[in-house]
Amino acid sequence: MEKKVRFFQSVNFKIAVAFILILLISIEIIGAYFIRGLENSTIDSFYSSMDQRTTSMAATIRSELNDTKESADEVQQIVENNFTSDVLEIRVVDENNVILAAKDTRNSNLVGTKNDYSDLNAFTLKSEDAVDEEGKRVHITVRPIQDPSGDAVIGALYVRSNLERKYTEINRIAVIFFSASLIAALISVIITFLVSRSITQPIEEMRLLAVRIANGDYTGRAKIYGKDELSQLGESFNQLSERIEEAQDSMESERNRLDSVLTHMTDGVIATDRRGKVITINDMALSLLGVTSEETIGMSILTLLDIEKEYTFRRLLEETEDLILDRSNSHRESDQLIIKVNFSMLRRDSGFISGIVAVLHDVTEQERTEQERREFVSNVSHELRTPLTSMRSYIEALSEGAWQDEELAPNFLNVTLEETDRMIRMINDLLSLTKMDNGKTTVQKELVNFNEFVNFILDRFDMMVNNQEKKYVIRREFTQRDLWVEADPDKMTQVIDNIMNNAIKYSPDGGAITCRLIETHNNIIFSISDQGLGIPRKDLGRVFDRFYRVDKARARAQGGTGLGLAISKEVVKAHEGSIWAESQEGKGSTFYIALPYEPYEEDWWE
Ligand code: ADP
Repeated sequence: MEKKVRFFQSVNFKIAVAFILILLISIEIIGAYFIRGLENSTIDSFYSSMDQRTTSMAATIRSELNDTKESADEVQQIVENNFTSDVLEIRVVDENNVILAAKDTRNSNLVGTKNDYSDLNAFTLKSEDAVDEEGKRVHITVRPIQDPSGDAVIGALYVRSNLERKYTEINRIAVIFFSASLIAALISVIITFLVSRSITQPIEEMRLLAVRIANGDYTGRAKIYGKDELSQLGESFNQLSERIEEAQDSMESERNRLDSVLTHMTDGVIATDRRGKVITINDMALSLLGVTSEETIGMSILTLLDIEKEYTFRRLLEETEDLILDRSNSHRESDQLIIKVNFSMLRRDSGFISGIVAVLHDVTEQERTEQERREFVSNVSHELRTPLTSMRSYIEALSEGAWQDEELAPNFLNVTLEETDRMIRMINDLLSLTKMDNGKTTVQKELVNFNEFVNFILDRFDMMVNNQEKKYVIRREFTQRDLWVEADPDKMTQVIDNIMNNAIKYSPDGGAITCRLIETHNNIIFSISDQGLGIPRKDLGRVFDRFYRVDKARARAQGGTGLGLAISKEVVKAHEGSIWAESQEGKGSTFYIALPYEPYEEDWWE
């Protein structure tokens, strides 16, 4: 916030005050010395002139007194002649202290009377200042008059002169001096203000410029007034402003570049200050964490990543190992989200830690694949171990003597044979799945009359029913006209066999299996419904997973590998179709296969 400088605080005022004070003090000192000197010299010269005058007067009077005894008139004349404006009174007395001649400003006639002044009595040389009855300063000179031989005093001269006038004169000069100083002070105040303004003006301009620069406006330039230090300062200031503008520009473009890099990164990036408060977060990080920029800026990174309980900011700085965050929504499997966070410290050249950068990487898919791989390996080992263990126990029994038992031995051998067959089936299934996973199996599509194709397969199942213990009936509900579909007949046969076998396997004795073939706008849908025990709702989505079985023990007893539906799914996927199941527990299940289909125009054939 810019504060207005008050006049009394301004440099302008300070310079002026300093100037005036210096001026007044010097005038005061000079004045004091000057007045003192003037006073001394004036008074001294007054004294010496008085001295001279009285000496010569005394000499004249003495020669007069010597001539004749009756020379009172001449003495009076001398007194009258010497009575100048600066003299207040002159008295001449004889040796008996009788006034011979006298003159004062009041023109009193004292000649012949006895002198009454005590100062004059002593007849000693005297030169002193005194104050008269009116309070004025006077100078009194008493000069004894000696006879020519110098042995006897024959009288005395008394002169009272006006010292006050001298002082008045000195005072008048002092007044002139001080009033002149006052005028000089006044003029210098004005000059000082002008001079100090010429100094502060450019400073003020530069200050305003600095304020503009601080607000991000670099267009202003300081005016250069001349060639003095201030104008040099102004020039440096202008250079500084240019440099800042350049630096600001390059910083700006650097930041823009960084911003666009951050925005287009496929990884999330979070940068914090040295206290761990978020200062930058890119769009990817926002979307990974499901937050908005407003709520995260200034937030602690620990809170943001929800790791406050396990970590302190210090620990994050010390341990730079990766962190796996499970942000999955526990209620919805589709909302699985696993984030790998990699931390690195931001360190200045001085070694000062200025923050931390966290790079967030979505590893959900990776983790899921990894998890599936682990499960798969464990499933395969488990699936192979079960038949092997049972085979081992049968072989053990045989080797311990059961081979001799004519009833048991063939039975046991049969079981081992069945188990071996099952293992071979499983390995074959696994191999074909692996091939499909690696993309080695390509479907050999040809245009197939699907109605005919399905009928052919189902006829086979109809024939098989006679050789089996468990009975079933197959119902067919097909479209009137034949549907021609692009499909790989071998692979599709495998899929339908699989679903049919399951339907028979899980159906009750004598159950009906309904096969429907319908067409929609651009799909054919083939479904197989049974009247079996059905599949619980929670397992419906998973029956297509590898090795997944609803009831493990029973499914294995039926000789299943748990891979049939998984293979079917892969095959249908390779046909760009889809496969799914619906079921009502206790009432039966329906498996659907949808394949892309382009209805041809009947006219075209005709
Ligand atoms: P399996 O070789 O065990 O039959 P599949 O992949 O063909 O393996 O089937 C997986 C599981 O799905 C089966 O173990 C069974 O629990 C369930 N299932 C499949 N078809 C049906 C059906 N028609 N009725 C009830 N359950 C079924």
